[in-house]
Amino acid sequence: MAKPQIEELRSEALQTIDSATRELIIAAKTVYNTPETGFNEFQTSKFVQQQLQALGYVVETGIARTGMKAVLRGSKPGPTVAVIAELDALKVPAHPGADPETGAAHACGHHAQTGVMLGVARAMNTANIQDSLDGNLAFIVTPAEEFIEIQDRLVLRDAGVIEFLSGKQEMIRLGSFDDVDMTMMVHTSAGNGGAGLNIGGTSNAHVSHQVRYIGRSAHAGGSPDQGVNALQAAMLANSAINSQRETFRESDVVRVHGILSRGGSSVNAVPDDVLYEGRVRARTVDDIESIADQVIRCYRAGALAMGASVEVQEIAGYHDLIQDPTLKKMFVENAELILGRDSINVVPDEQTQGGSTDMGDLSSIMPVIHPYANAATGVGHGHDYLVEDYDRAVVAPAKVITATVLDLLGNGAQKAREALAKSKPRMTREEYVSTQRTRFRTETYDPD
Ligand SMILES: [Zn+2]
Ligand SMILES: [Zn+2]
Repeated sequence: MAKPQIEELRSEALQTIDSATRELIIAAKTVYNTPETGFNEFQTSKFVQQQLQALGYVVETGIARTGMKAVLRGSKPGPTVAVIAELDALKVPAHPGADPETGAAHACGHHAQTGVMLGVARAMNTANIQDSLDGNLAFIVTPAEEFIEIQDRLVLRDAGVIEFLSGKQEMIRLGSFDDVDMTMMVHTSAGNGGAGLNIGGTSNAHVSHQVRYIGRSAHAGGSPDQGVNALQAAMLANSAINSQRETFRESDVVRVHGILSRGGSSVNAVPDDVLYEGRVRARTVDDIESIADQVIRCYRAGALAMGASVEVQEIAGYHDLIQDPTLKKMFVENAELILGRDSINVVPDEQTQGGSTDMGDLSSIMPVIHPYANAATGVGHGHDYLVEDYDRAVVAPAKVITATVLDLLGNGAQKAREALAKSKPRMTREEYVSTQRTRFRTETYDPD
């Protein structure tokens, strides 16, 4: 019997997704209803594991705490394509879907990604399809994309549980991507125009700063002259940072922002131990360097003015995202084929959005795409960010990814090999890991 053509396999796979629409959307909503922040996604992880196992996959669990991986092997050896689903929620207590105890909420729409991945996992898992693939399809479920709760993650780092502070960074370090050649995922978005899908552009690199001011406590009413006010030092630093803004080049897409996560212990004592958490973002890791130096000078200026000391802990954040042109083209063609000509909007390569993602880190070592499904309303990371259109968020991306994987690994995996031959990763996995290690630095400045 002649082997089925890609077109036949595609239509079989898309039918599988169509007939599973309800289950896929329920799976996404189940994740929505158990929001957990990065490296704490234990319930979510268990659920996704069970869902993959129910489809017949062998799942390797507990990678970087809550991450996991399952591999579907084609009948012949060849490249490995990975589909990623992110597990984590944010902390947005005012969000209607927030966990009342932890404040965790899916205000970035990551829950939809589980539905997308399960759709692909279901559609591809047939003897007919496996038989036609040269290469493998990996499902990689990643913790902690949102770069938050830094103090908690530093506790895990100090205990040797993690080394890097995001899920994909950790999974690269642990070798989960060693046998992976290219990666794709679809993230939700809001207000990206009329098309259901959006692809292209880049995202910012970033670095994090944990800035601890140490002053001297004293009675705030009785003997403030005896104290050294660490809160004032942090506030002066924040003002100094604001004074730098006119020097930031627009072309670097600089974002400098922070929170005061410990402002003092009691109102009747001069604050002597204050924690400011800062973040510097710009187009590339290299662009960040000089801006970070400028910002660190401001941290010191606050300490100098008040006579406090300051410890600045720099934490390796994300790399900028570069999307692979070959994968992008294939994704666009499949979207147009399956969903119609107007279904996808292509953004210029150089268009940078201010945010950051650890898909950027992956994109420094292999070809990736990170399209958006325009399926939500409200503002990303806001209390009103809600995935409203689950066909757009889950079903359509599952179909386009499935068809793209079939194109990549079918027909002797010609397309996957072509994409690999054309791609020029910025660094090797080893170089990535060693680069990230050098981005962790701590300095103490004590003006006395
Ligand atoms: Zn996100
Ligand atoms: Zn986010």
